[in-house]
Order: sequence, then C-alpha cells, then structure tokens
Amino acid sequence: MRIPLIAGNWKMNKSVASAKQFMTAIQGKLPAADQVETAVAAPALFLQTMLEANTDNVLRVAAEACYYEDEGAYTGETSPKALHEMGIPYTIVGHSERRRYFNETDDVINRKVQAVFRNGMTPIVCCDETMGRRESGERIHWVVNQVSAALKGVSAEDAAKIVIAYEPSWAIGSGTTASTDQAEEGCYLIRQTLADIYSDDLANGVRVLYGGSVKPDNIAGIMGRDNVDGVLAGGSSLDESSFIKLANYQN
Ligand code: 13P
Repeated sequence: MRIPLIAGNWKMNKSVASAKQFMTAIQGKLPAADQVETAVAAPALFLQTMLEANTDNVLRVAAEACYYEDEGAYTGETSPKALHEMGIPYTIVGHSERRRYFNETDDVINRKVQAVFRNGMTPIVCCDETMGRRESGERIHWVVNQVSAALKGVSAEDAAKIVIAYEPSWAIGSGTTASTDQAEEGCYLIRQTLADIYSDDLANGVRVLYGGSVKPDNIAGIMGRDNVDGVLAGGSSLDESSFIKLANYQN
C-alpha cells in the first residue's frame, strides 16, 4: 500500500520566525503518519528551528536542495551529509526552478540523487514538462528521459524508496492546475518508466506526486486518481491553515 504523501515546498519564502510559528500552529492538526504522511521542504536556514519546534513529530521536515558532494571546498552549498546528521529524511532534487535558474543538468541531478541516497535520505525527484512540449506531443519522451537520467546507476533497493513528483512547469505558480486527467497521465507515465527500468513490483510501490497550483479546493480531485499518491504544493503550503487543509484532504 502506498501511503499518501502531502508535501509542501516553501521555496525562498518565509523567515525563521514565521517558520517557527508555522510549526507551532500545525502541531496536533495533521493526520497520523501511517494514514497520510506530511512533509514540508524549507530553506536550510530554517531547518534546525523547525525540527526543534516539531514537538509531536508528525511532520517530516525536509530540505529543498543540497549539493552532490558530502563536504569540501564548495562555498555556499548545503551538505547532504550534514542534512542527514540533523535528522532530515527528504530532500527535493531537480526542481524545475533549479534546472532553469541554476542550470542543473540531468547529470547534476543524477549525482544529487545518488548523494541523497548515499547519505541515508530519500530524494523527492521533480520531473517537469513545458506547455510547448505538451502541445508538440514531446512530453512523453521528455518525462521518460528525465526519470531515466535521474535514476542512472541507482540500485533497485534505493529506487524502491524514491519519491517522484510530476510538476508541469506551466502549472507551477500559475494558478492553472493540470486537469485531474493530466495529473494522472503524468504520474502514470512516471510509474511506467519505473516499471520499464526496474520492475512492475517496484513501480507499484513507489509514490508519485503531482505538483502545480495545488490548493485546498482542488486537492481532493487530484488525490482521487489512481496513480497520484500525493502532492507537492508551493504557494498553498506557506500558510498554516491552508497546509492543514491540504493534509486533511480526506475529511
Ligand atoms: P505552486 O503550488 O506554487 O504552483 O508550486 C508548485 C511547486 O513548484 C512545488 O514544488
């Protein structure tokens, strides 16, 4: 059984003080982790404060990005080893904003996926798709290639733990959510790619999320689809009451 994962991605928003306030506000208001797992990926600067404020320990505090080396002369980078030592279970890898603004290539993303696993964490790998590719019918190759490149050299044992998020760039921050059919199609495509690379069994156990303008009023429809195992929400994860609603989408 795939336990749904409702995850937030704060991006470069909020402050240490408002991150702490968020943590205080959500304690006791999220579903039990064996029913619906919840996570928020936040800037590295806030993580320690968030972990300390996470008194009921239901929310998984995650990172938004990290480097592919464990340590060394890499000024300004975040070490995956240090994240693991802090107790961070998940790190987002390969978000379309990292690909676009920070020139992260498939090769860099693959190295980061390996670094996250090597350090005992789980990557939430993002897979994007532009409207141009959708309209020209190129999206299938594009999605398949991104997933295959991210997983190059990753063992089945590690791949079985991965989380992949289908995040069409045209739906991110635009207010235009993919239709539930489009979300289902993207997540299905990712699962089929995993089946082709590894096995049906492995693919059936992996959680595939949808991301792009998910909000409390559209999450139930998206979560109702067979291949969608969770969401990665940006804007609507920033406000505590909105995140609580997302997490409790079943009620
Ligand atoms: P929005 O929910 O703000 O569209 O962002 C989605 C996203 O990029 C999550 O990683």
